Amino acid sequence: MKPLLILDCDEVILEFARPFARWLRDSREVELKFDSFALVGNMRHLKDGSAVDKAEFPGLLDGFFAEGQHLQDPAEDAIRALTGLRRHMDLVVLTNIPAAFRDIRLERLKALGLDVPVHANDGPKGRRVKELAGERRAVFVDDLPPHHRSAAQHAPEVGRLHMVADAALGGLIPAAPDAHARIDRWADAEPWIMNWMEGQTDGR
Ligand SMILES: [Mg+2]
Repeated sequence: MKPLLILDCDEVILEFARPFARWLRDSREVELKFDSFALVGNMRHLKDGSAVDKAEFPGLLDGFFAEGQHLQDPAEDAIRALTGLRRHMDLVVLTNIPAAFRDIRLERLKALGLDVPVHANDGPKGRRVKELAGERRAVFVDDLPPHHRSAAQHAPEVGRLHMVADAALGGLIPAAPDAHARIDRWADAEPWIMNWMEGQTDGR
């Protein structure tokens, strides 16, 4: 059986921070400036400068997933690298997006040349990583450290690659302590993933 590459979508395959900020400004008159690694707390209404309340956030995020996913372009080099890796392994997307917006994500990825299964998840990803990987050799790629902690708990044998595709955001997110490696560029991630799948990498 082929090895399995389990991929997060936002800030791994597709840009998120930049298109989300653009959509917020153009569609909701909200400014998002990353002074720290957080979404809530870095958003304010342009009309009066007031902070966006925590309670407003889920509606804004759902609005983007409903209306703005076409604004999400691939992370640099992602499509080329994944097209290459796909010759050697199966690809699956594990993304924290409400199920109602999963099909839009699937179609967006397909339009960009990645016709792959898309699983919608909610909360920590470790159990789903374990289910998807089963007994196969596998690598999990995600930008958020808590998902690596969860994967380390539930699927410790799966390779854990911490990637933050956006350079500005990457500077705000320290390397996840529970990941095996931190690599932000696909050109460098590609050989690491190949090595892991071939059993030549099993630690830091
Ligand atoms: Mg992500």
